[in-house]
Amino acid sequence: MQHFFVDRSQVEEDRVWIQGTDVNHIRNVLRMRVGEQIQISDGSNRVRLCRIMKIESDRIETEILSVEESFAELPAQIYLFQGIPKGDKMEFIIQKAVELGVYAIVPMQTNRVVVKLDEKKEQSRLKRWNSIAESAAKQSGRTVIPKVLPVMDLEEVCYFIKEFECKMIPYECAEKGVERTKELVEGIQQNSRVGVLIGPEGGFEKEEVAMAIESGIEAVSLGRRILRTETAGMVVLGVMMFSLEK
Ligand code: SAH
Repeated sequence: MQHFFVDRSQVEEDRVWIQGTDVNHIRNVLRMRVGEQIQISDGSNRVRLCRIMKIESDRIETEILSVEESFAELPAQIYLFQGIPKGDKMEFIIQKAVELGVYAIVPMQTNRVVVKLDEKKEQSRLKRWNSIAESAAKQSGRTVIPKVLPVMDLEEVCYFIKEFECKMIPYECAEKGVERTKELVEGIQQNSRVGVLIGPEGGFEKEEVAMAIESGIEAVSLGRRILRTETAGMVVLGVMMFSLEK
């Protein structure tokens, strides 16, 4: 069944209105007709089974047939702070992170990031990155579309996650071994916010890790091998997903 995402304001007691680009998609790409059924999420855990009632040029009216709770979301909100990688690697990272249950992704500017994004470029990248997150969310049956937030530097990240219940910075020279990482992952509580900071291809500078530690973020190991930046975040998300999934 086709799955669509709407804003809460489009949901009424017994109706859901579809607007924007989905209208064209339903009318002209999927060629759906009045009477056909679709699933609609509003960013919460509720999924509504709806029937198309009326198809207009700029909006589609649907009737709610039933509401079900979905368990597609992880019980904790995991934020991936990703040192901006070269080329189109970020797109791959976003797609995979969404499949693994990430809640939000923040492209992170660090000393060894080589990509330069001016204001205009950042805006266009964010648009593209968010549309990748949206298709990955649809494809993997999620009820929340993870957001790709604007670029932050390391200092802003440290401030942003100040109140997060769990925060870690995977670092190949971390003092403690992987046992401690396991302990942290297994200790993640339901409904908590988790921050994971991954360095770009060149990794973090020692001073950057020291600054993160200073603000309460724990440096952790991901094992005895050096992982590429696009592997490191996925490993963390994978083990968190396994630990959190009920
Ligand atoms: N500076 C390194 C590799 C950076 S890998 C070098 O060039 O040799 C990119 C990022 O992945 C790192 O900044 C770190 O966040 C994470 N990472 C990779 N392997 C890791 C490991 N074994 N333990 C912890 N973090 C790791």
